[in-house]
Amino acid sequence: MATYRCGKCWKTFGDDQLKVLPGIRCPYCGYKIIYMVRKSGIKTVKAI
Ligand SMILES: [Zn+2]
Repeated sequence: MATYRCGKCWKTFGDDQLKVLPGIRCPYCGYKIIYMVRKSGIKTVKAI
């Protein structure tokens, strides 16, 4: 699970919100430049 940040409006959103849209773009303003935000410190490992 990754967190993304828009390069224009700087809102953050998860990759589950990103999958809803065709292509990679901000779900709020539609901007195409998206940064991936990594959380430092806590690392969660999900066992399947
Ligand atoms: Zn945006």
